[in-house]
Amino acid sequence: MERIIIVEDEKKVSAFIQQGLNEIGYQVESVESPRLARELFKKKVFDLMILDVMLPDINGFDFAREIRESGYSGFILMLTAMSTTKDKIQGLDSGADDYLTKPFEFDELLARIRALTRRKSDDKAQLKNGDMLVDLIGRTVSREGIRIELTTKEFSLLEFLMRHLNQVMDRNAIARQVWGAEFDPDSNVIDVYINHLRKKIDNPFTKKLLKTVVGQGYVLHRAD
Ligand code: CA
Repeated sequence: MERIIIVEDEKKVSAFIQQGLNEIGYQVESVESPRLARELFKKKVFDLMILDVMLPDINGFDFAREIRESGYSGFILMLTAMSTTKDKIQGLDSGADDYLTKPFEFDELLARIRALTRRKSDDKAQLKNGDMLVDLIGRTVSREGIRIELTTKEFSLLEFLMRHLNQVMDRNAIARQVWGAEFDPDSNVIDVYINHLRKKIDNPFTKKLLKTVVGQGYVLHRAD
């Protein structure tokens, strides 16, 4: 399910969009300023941002650019009263994927969202396993839309396991792929990292995915 954030200071507009999208089944959060959006992006992951241009602290063009630089790889749909070609170009240049001029029909907004999210299915930059999403460009991980902070090694370990779902990977295979030449076969570093990873990606969530197969290794189960 797509998770959508609306950044719009006109409450009537955001309430109208949020209600419409909620009714269809999208998970939607709305904030009134880029400042509040930044806070939310630290904690959650979104597939799409509906972004107004005229906003309190900084404008939508600058915020789109900022959020792209911070690693956000979801879609950005700009929403604005301005409708000149120059504004549209500026919006697309700042990292937006599409542009919608106010006033708009809800059905048109919906059609744009559908068109954007369809594109995503060919996006190889993301590994998905049930509610777990690993973004290889932004280097972010989330489950149920909640952002999980991983160290570089933990991320590499998870990426390796995500690429081999349902396959038991022994310590040698993990060592070769994730640690390479620097690995000391006598150390228990893999077990330590698996424990760290499990605490972050499994413990807070109902469905446990990372399993130990005694005497063999570790496996990340397919969730769906
Ligand atoms: Ca506005």
